[in-house]
Amino acid sequence: MSANLFAYRGLRDALPADCTLVAVSKFQPVEAIEALYAAGHRDFGENRVQELAAKAAALPKDIRWHMIGRIQTNKIREFAPFVHLVHSVDRLEVLRVLQNEALRAGRRIDVLLQVHIAREETKAGFSPDEVLGLCAVNVLNEYPNLRVVGLMGMASFTEDRDLVRAEFALLSSLFRAAREQLGVGQVTVLSMGMSGDYELALTEGANHIRVGSLLFGARSGQ
Ligand SMILES: *Cc1c(COP(=O)(O)O)cnc(C)c1O
Repeated sequence: MSANLFAYRGLRDALPADCTLVAVSKFQPVEAIEALYAAGHRDFGENRVQELAAKAAALPKDIRWHMIGRIQTNKIREFAPFVHLVHSVDRLEVLRVLQNEALRAGRRIDVLLQVHIAREETKAGFSPDEVLGLCAVNVLNEYPNLRVVGLMGMASFTEDRDLVRAEFALLSSLFRAAREQLGVGQVTVLSMGMSGDYELALTEGANHIRVGSLLFGARSGQ
């Protein structure tokens, strides 16, 4: 298993210049990451803390690591010192512990609020109302070592393109509201779209897409 450089170059060349491609390397060996790294790629996403920490230790230090998976608060200490962007802040408890760990690591951590936009109950995230409420009271004041720089969401896993588009459009409108509340200089990241739906996400304004299987092939053992 390794990276598909052909698919990588095709995707990279097709993306708008201001769109960040997060290569989701979960379940992939370090060799697959090294292949994309050699092609100049620096943004990689992982969803399990142990794997993230092990890969970060083994790979070049200029990689920007994105945490995209559900966060157990007792594991935050393992990635707080080096993580580039946390996409998956889905509850207040995560904000609270991340704040403590950022302080402890002596740094500021950029985070995205994950919003529950899909029909599926299994997907995580704040409700749209909760996100608006957090932005209205200015989430930042309570968490001085964190900076909320945007929103993240996952659409329903479905063939229904209209539904997926509507879910992305909802997240996009929340993103615009968050920018108004917290400032356009601060809130700049809209993370939505995966291998199967990134084109729709781009149409609806995504500027970070998280793509795994399209670049690395299907994941085994998942
Ligand atoms: C696995 C994962 C992705 C990438 O999924 P693909 O369908 O392989 O592109 C994106 N975002 C999150 C949160 C993921 O867990």
